[in-house]
Amino acid sequence: MREIELPLPGRDLSYRLVIEPGLRHRLGPLLSPFRFPPQVVVISDRRVARLYSAEVLGSLTAAGLTPVLLTTPPGERAKAWGVVPRLARELLARGTHRRTPVIALGGGVVGDLAGFLASIFMRGLPFIQVPTTLLAMVDAAIGGKTAINLPEGKNLLGTFHQPRMVVIDPEFLRTLPRAERLNGLAEVLKAGFIRDRDLLARLDAAGAGVFGDEAELTDTIYRAAAIKAQVVSQDERESDFRRILNFGHTLGHGLEQASRFRLPHGRAVAWGMVAALTLSERLAGLAPAEAEWGRRLICGFDLCRPLPELNPEAVMAALRLDKKRQETGVPFVLLPRLGATVIRDGVPLDLVAAVLGKILGEGARGFS
Ligand code: ADP
Ligand code: ZN
Repeated sequence: MREIELPLPGRDLSYRLVIEPGLRHRLGPLLSPFRFPPQVVVISDRRVARLYSAEVLGSLTAAGLTPVLLTTPPGERAKAWGVVPRLARELLARGTHRRTPVIALGGGVVGDLAGFLASIFMRGLPFIQVPTTLLAMVDAAIGGKTAINLPEGKNLLGTFHQPRMVVIDPEFLRTLPRAERLNGLAEVLKAGFIRDRDLLARLDAAGAGVFGDEAELTDTIYRAAAIKAQVVSQDERESDFRRILNFGHTLGHGLEQASRFRLPHGRAVAWGMVAALTLSERLAGLAPAEAEWGRRLICGFDLCRPLPELNPEAVMAALRLDKKRQETGVPFVLLPRLGATVIRDGVPLDLVAAVLGKILGEGARGFS
């Protein structure tokens, strides 16, 4: 079992991220050092629960715990305000008290929702992350951000609530649909681009075969998770350093918004990274051959399919409205070389528009 230790911000304590195939069968013993009271709450979506709740609850029960399973519908719509009081009242009905741990078993949606609930219920319950999507394993489950959506936008209500432990079992990915794998892969690529060129080289060698090779997959998740862990532990609240995690996301968010969130996050971020590589060539001195290698790597994973009906004006409008916009232009995370970052706060809008036009053109021709 491999581990990453993360500091708890502002306190002289830490928590562990552990990773190994099969860990879902060992959740009970992993939790025993915490000496939680017998009742534990597992929150999952119905799809994940159908696949994995028997194994996970079985492991908890075998360790002498009394798990209670609460489920939500799968998908983003579970991150809604109305779901929070419903779950909270179910917790009350089951006799939950301040020391009852909440275990999030699912993707980023379940983690965000369960973490939000755990952070506010009776002013905070202990929280455990058991991510089941690649995106959650390498990104969403690490860093302590929780959130739900409002009709006006995503993640508008949220808190910071660090988990007591993050338990990663790569075997969960055996059942993950291909489109969801690609969403996570975009974040793995992002981790490589900002901090680990060697991870990129390994992804290049493995190609899509990475999902068929459990040892390689485990190592890939470990390395990407370690990068996220390293960044967030230096800067919990995104004042500056954490912004490097936005690589590919500036334009990515614009594309998502312009598509009214029909474009999957991974494909939006992939195109955002393709654009950021081109901007890095122009503004940060990235060698053209490296930028081209990076773009081919991203698109080799089938992340660069065309962007039908995406109106460049709508994308630019979303960028102008972004809360992180500065007077002088758009902030971008750029790469002076692959594996290193520099933040440019004032990338001129007309330059962004030109690169966007190129991408939408290439996308329209089925660039890959
Ligand atoms: P993300 O982690 O990208 O935020 P979600 O939490 O919305 O995504 O999960 C995406 C979809 O994948 C949901 O429909 C969820 O039920 C499903 N899912 C999550 N984990 C697994 C898994 N291990 N196997 C199969 N389906 C899964
Ligand atoms: Zn992302």
